[in-house]
Amino acid sequence: MNIQQKVEILADAAKYDASCASSGAKRSGNGKGVGHSDGMGICHSYTPDGRCVSLLKILLTNFCTYDCVFCVNRISSDIQRARFTPDEVVKLTLDFYKRNYIEGLFLSSGIIQSPDYTMEQLLHVAKTLRTMHHFGGYIHLKAIPGASERLIEQAGLFADRLSANIELPTQQDLVQLAPEKKTTIIESTMNNIALRKEEADEDRRKLPSAPKFAAAGQSTQMVVGATPTTDREILKTATHLYGQYKLRRIYYTGFSPYPAADARLPLKPAPLIREHRLYQSDWLMRFYGFTAAELTSEEDPSLSLTEDPKTTWAKSHPEFFPVDVNAAPRESLLRVPGIGYRNVERILSIRKYHRLLLDDLKKLHVRVKNVLPYLITIDHIPRQQPVVNQAQPITQLDLFAPLSAFSGSL
Ligand code: SF4
Repeated sequence: MNIQQKVEILADAAKYDASCASSGAKRSGNGKGVGHSDGMGICHSYTPDGRCVSLLKILLTNFCTYDCVFCVNRISSDIQRARFTPDEVVKLTLDFYKRNYIEGLFLSSGIIQSPDYTMEQLLHVAKTLRTMHHFGGYIHLKAIPGASERLIEQAGLFADRLSANIELPTQQDLVQLAPEKKTTIIESTMNNIALRKEEADEDRRKLPSAPKFAAAGQSTQMVVGATPTTDREILKTATHLYGQYKLRRIYYTGFSPYPAADARLPLKPAPLIREHRLYQSDWLMRFYGFTAAELTSEEDPSLSLTEDPKTTWAKSHPEFFPVDVNAAPRESLLRVPGIGYRNVERILSIRKYHRLLLDDLKKLHVRVKNVLPYLITIDHIPRQQPVVNQAQPITQLDLFAPLSAFSGSL
């Protein structure tokens, strides 16, 4: 099998790993414009300084000794197999890099022989690129759960990002669909990465020339919709992983069925919108101060497919609104549907000098129609006045708002 054939098979096999920012999008040129994109081969990721870089995204091999039911590369799958040698991956990366196709490498693999053996092969690629070819591009390596601490430690010295996949939201899910995998082993690898990174960051604070360890941190991927596990449980797991191992990102991948799949798997794909709602909720937990428990309830553990989670929360908490844009603390403004965290920062700095009107929100590109039920500005108070949030007693607002603004609403 020549290199081109291997690239076709192993770049295609890698498209199921969502642990970098974009992949899987396929777009054909229309014959009039320039370029097209394939659903495999190149993906994008963000460096620690915020640059978006294109990566060669491949598997070292799609042979795998494990039998994860949801995975097309599992041992019992009847697919065409291929395997690169580490030196072939090194050469491919350098060739693509020199032609300016890519700025880095995303390398994963099926489990060959054992976690240690597989990790050694991945490590060999990263180490060769860095030490023999002085490759300065971005490297994202898969950290194989169960590989020895020594190998993970070395991998972090050569890779910008490491990711150990949690695969499924709960241990029960793994028992059901990925019998060789254990949450404890996966989390122990994540813990190892987190500790090594903490130590390296501490060393660099004392001595800036000390070696970096996985400068872009660690991420993970979770397949959703392959089991009946609820969004509430998924978000609970996400909270645990972010809190315990300081993950930079969790990537949620909706399960999609494939031909002749195991009977334990659902026949229908997870709705794309569910994946989207999980990302929105994840974002709300990381940047808006929401907790997993607030975004769903015991009675209704699924995220709404028709409405974003911030709006759902706002509708079920009328006692929290309206929020006074000129007086409310940051954490209250962050809960207003239609106002993003960047605009919250802008509002906080503008209101030091100027009391905001609806027009000011328009200038910040806020969709005013959407925020009207939730906000008080100098010239607006929602018509249906729910219980006012404790953080902004109405007597204070009275003192500053022009009389015309109240137009009988209070
Ligand atoms: S270990 Fe990874 S590649 Fe192998 S079957 Fe499981 S998910 Fe697929």
